[in-house]
Amino acid sequence: MVNLRSQREIALMRRAGLVVWGAHQVAAAMVRPGITTGEIDAAVEAFFARNSAVPLFKGVPGKVPFPAVCCISVNDEVVHGIPGPRVLRSGDVVSIDTGCSVGGWCGDSARTHPVGEISEDARRLLECTSGVLDLAIDLMGKRSRWSDVATEMATFVRDRGFSVVENFVGHGIGRKMHEDPQVPNYCSPAFRRNYDFELETGLVIAVEPMVNMGTKKVRLMPDHWTQSTVDGLPSAHFEHTIAITEEGPEVLTRGPDAGESAPV
Ligand code: MG
Ligand code: MG
Repeated sequence: MVNLRSQREIALMRRAGLVVWGAHQVAAAMVRPGITTGEIDAAVEAFFARNSAVPLFKGVPGKVPFPAVCCISVNDEVVHGIPGPRVLRSGDVVSIDTGCSVGGWCGDSARTHPVGEISEDARRLLECTSGVLDLAIDLMGKRSRWSDVATEMATFVRDRGFSVVENFVGHGIGRKMHEDPQVPNYCSPAFRRNYDFELETGLVIAVEPMVNMGTKKVRLMPDHWTQSTVDGLPSAHFEHTIAITEEGPEVLTRGPDAGESAPV
């Protein structure tokens, strides 16, 4: 059951989205060789506190509750990496995913950063993954069903020689971080038959392609959270929370427009 949101509700979600964007600005400014993933997470946690935002990731139930406000995943780690004492080094790629709620409405966004100098292949992987998210946002205003967007996303990634992760998907978002529908980054016959959905005004979804340099296969690490590529090759992850309005797709987790002030 998909919740459609009014213009007013989308405006409230934008407030959460702006704080998530601000958190990413804080994180991006810290990414460099020598910093630990735990230091980045602590800065984002302080930023959420300053903005009276409730972090959405900390305490998510699992075999152990998720212990941080960001998922920080390095190199072959695809998603759900736990921040801590790991030191970033030049040549790494680091995916930072975070979300918060403001006034009861949620925002969720992720991006992958290069650390220092990265390889040409890694740079292509990051460009492909942010590019396929941009493609999806554009197509959300031009196609009528998600299956058509997802099909074109998978083709975009395959044409560049990389693979779309299939074990994890995007999601509806609103009062809760994870709502219906499921938003895959590829299209299977079963999805088209049973789970496809209309791209209609009021839909708000988190679109989050995860792209691997090698195999699409992932495995769970012994910390019960981190998902890593089976072949050890790097992975990238970009995500935005996006609403469909009368004027077309609106990215709720992008930077401020004229008249909006940035969170501090
Ligand atoms: Mg996320
Ligand atoms: Mg998400």
